[in-house]
Amino acid sequence: MLSSGEYAAKLKTACVGTLLLVAGFAAVSCGGEGNTAGASGEVTVVYEDDTIKPKDRHAVEVVRKSGVLEQTADWVNKSVDLPHDLVVKVTGKVPPGVTDAVTQPDGRTVFVPPAFLTQIQETLRDVVKTVKRPALVPEAQFNADDLTSLSTQFIFGHEMGHALQRQLLLANLGLEEDAADGFASFYTVNQVGPGPTLAAAILFDEIARREGKLTLEGFASDHPVTQQRVFTFLCYLEGSDPKTFYGPMVDAGYLPKTRAPLCPQAWAMLDYGWWTQLQPHFTEAFKEQGDKTQEKALDHLTAETKAFEKQLDKLRSEQ
Ligand SMILES: [Zn+2]
Repeated sequence: MLSSGEYAAKLKTACVGTLLLVAGFAAVSCGGEGNTAGASGEVTVVYEDDTIKPKDRHAVEVVRKSGVLEQTADWVNKSVDLPHDLVVKVTGKVPPGVTDAVTQPDGRTVFVPPAFLTQIQETLRDVVKTVKRPALVPEAQFNADDLTSLSTQFIFGHEMGHALQRQLLLANLGLEEDAADGFASFYTVNQVGPGPTLAAAILFDEIARREGKLTLEGFASDHPVTQQRVFTFLCYLEGSDPKTFYGPMVDAGYLPKTRAPLCPQAWAMLDYGWWTQLQPHFTEAFKEQGDKTQEKALDHLTAETKAFEKQLDKLRSEQ
């Protein structure tokens, strides 16, 4: 079975604390040529089939057929001018020590190892047999393959967050890993829907269970602890549309009532934050739409902050 601590520890770094690990490999080839002045960097997704072992072919096919990596790449290509190309490689040929999805320090290459996709798929295969389907996840989607592609979309959103931060040199006021998770939520909630968040929450919840008792090393990670990430994923989704999600997420017990009142404003802040960070880098074609969306996000944040202020005395006195 798949419950050994070693296995859990491997999967745990899923979203991906390997920056430190790979930071020393300056000689690693980064794919993609630098662009001439004025040219825009392009995101491309490459499947290096001859490096994929037979045991990993199924999980890779699931992800490839779903098109989730390409969908994210297309959105970035449409909306953001990158200074350099970004190559996303689904490949068995990875830098030393890489076992999960990683972004190179210059933000120009993302590696997605096939064995990592297989681990996700196998974990989710167990989950669908042992965990009751949350009402928000459609029955037709509650299977290992669909949950694999959806959670991979969220994880790739996290890597895309790293790539954007590094290529665009975005100012970062907190942990980079938090910002990368934030981009995954920002992108998927706005552009895809609830599926990737829910699948990632299901996957990470299982990973957290397999990790078991937290160690000092776990607390010292550059990522928040896994179970905390699950609640933050859920909080942003709930906060993006409480009318739709409060019942099936908070009343149903997936997101605690203590956290839920903070989520609409937290989402509004994240949404405004990312639109504002990306705004100077919008493509010509996206600029008008992007500027309007950023303005709307500010109005929404202002309204949510006022609404939150009104409830604050009540919330504090209930604690
Ligand atoms: Zn990361």
